[in-house]
Amino acid sequence: MIPFLDLGASYRELEQEIDAAIKRVLTGGWYILGEEVARFESEYADYCSSAEAVGVANGLDALVLSLRVLGVGSGDEVIVPSNTFIATWLAVSAVGALPVPVEPNPETHNLEASKVVEAITEKTKAIIAVHLYGQPADLDEIKAVAARANLFLIEDAAQAHGARYKGKRIGAHGDAVCWSFYPAKNLGAFGDGGAVTTDNSEIASRLRILRNYGSKEKYLNEVQGMNSRLDPIHAAVLSVKLKYLDEWNARRKQIAARYLAELQIVDVVLPVVPAWADPVWHLFVIRTKDRAGLQRRLYDIGVSTQIHYPLAPSQQKAYAGVLDPRLNLSVAAELAGEVLSLPIGPHQTDEQTSLIIKGVLEAAR
Ligand SMILES: *Cc1c(COP(=O)(O)O)cnc(C)c1O
Repeated sequence: MIPFLDLGASYRELEQEIDAAIKRVLTGGWYILGEEVARFESEYADYCSSAEAVGVANGLDALVLSLRVLGVGSGDEVIVPSNTFIATWLAVSAVGALPVPVEPNPETHNLEASKVVEAITEKTKAIIAVHLYGQPADLDEIKAVAARANLFLIEDAAQAHGARYKGKRIGAHGDAVCWSFYPAKNLGAFGDGGAVTTDNSEIASRLRILRNYGSKEKYLNEVQGMNSRLDPIHAAVLSVKLKYLDEWNARRKQIAARYLAELQIVDVVLPVVPAWADPVWHLFVIRTKDRAGLQRRLYDIGVSTQIHYPLAPSQQKAYAGVLDPRLNLSVAAELAGEVLSLPIGPHQTDEQTSLIIKGVLEAAR
């Protein structure tokens, strides 16, 4: 069976370096925040061309903390894509605001500025743009909309480590850029982790307080904060893996290039990459009317696939009765019914990619 993603492979590639980093933390005797976290924050900010990075416990918290720092809360509306991973919406709900879904461009799967404009009301406080599947959203257009309506722009970059928009790395186009280091992401820890990057030092310093009980100085609490810190053990591992991220993303790009060139078949809709986007292929997502059939035939010949995501957030029980019933979210529903993610990852071999391509060509007929 060809795995969807071989998570253990990155550890096996870097075993000695990672073991040494973990041991350094264990013997160092400092297990919350501290030097390891500060070092990774500074390296990750450099990598993202942002002034600051603040390590937090996970990607969902990165979004929640960013919304809180920007003052988004009860009574506010936040524009979100209708077709994202549910965490984007959960963060908005967690601060007491209402997620207002906007339909994506069905070719790029990302937000379109013209549709965002239509969803703005006097209650709108922020827009969350998601760089879905590792492909940047059209940030200049969305930023212009946000600026005109005086809204904050938050980026959910949980799938886009290393991606570039018009040549510049994702990391500081919006007011706050939220990252997840969940193990399966392009840059993943061996557990949960997250970060926020930003060029705004005021936002960064408030995030540092909010992630740590609302406290800058021990036992002095300025605000009602959370406990949402990146663990030093994960930070040390991430520092090691960050050095290999570009190489790993390049491997993903090679695989995506082969899929794009060799899977030109009628029954399969391939992802569309705008000229200004340099995606990092967190996922390679195709569309097909007969998804169940294709997925089963691929499984039978030993190719694992996954679906991202089988239900749009609006179709989940968690959001029953929450949204305006007049909303038409048929694009998200159609995508949820047709998307299929092919295996892709830095450690997938050329032979495996060839077998997957052969399998899809046979199975799609
Ligand atoms: C993974 C992911 C998140 C949440 O990150 P966690 O670290 O799992 O909390 C948020 N948004 C998107 C788009 C994601 O893919």
